[in-house]
Amino acid sequence: MAIRKLRFNGDEVLRKRAKEITVFDDKLKELAQDMIETMHKENGVGLAGQQIGLLKRIFVVDLYDGNEPFAVINPVIVKEKGEQVPDEGCLSVPNQFAKIKRPKEVVLEYQDLEGNHKKMKAKDLLAEVFCHETDHLNGILYIDKIIPGTEEYAAGFEKPDNTK
Ligand code: ZN
Repeated sequence: MAIRKLRFNGDEVLRKRAKEITVFDDKLKELAQDMIETMHKENGVGLAGQQIGLLKRIFVVDLYDGNEPFAVINPVIVKEKGEQVPDEGCLSVPNQFAKIKRPKEVVLEYQDLEGNHKKMKAKDLLAEVFCHETDHLNGILYIDKIIPGTEEYAAGFEKPDNTK
């Protein structure tokens, strides 16, 4: 197991569409473990393949709510319902947060690490994470969708003021 190196906004791998996973072997399980470790080290709630430089349709999730972290392979959001406007951030766009419109509830179809087809209903934060990570696999970053003027920056990381 190993911590993988993160890729950041500006890296072209983040803008490419990841490819379907067709082989469900021990290497895939090892990759998922590495991604979970990397996500934990960075205190993230999700991490997608592109964020460690891999064009594979896999992401991992941990909401730190007492449930085990898990891996999602070949995800497709098949239903969306309602709306929420969370403050969102991304490990690949550090120290920045902004409001974004997300569905309140989604249904996600995916495969687990054994290749079994699954369907999961999610709402609130989990729905947000499913949308954010599925976007990553399609080369989309949350900063593409933020509500203008809602950007916030961590202390010391304010956007440069170009008006002066
Ligand atoms: Zn992200």
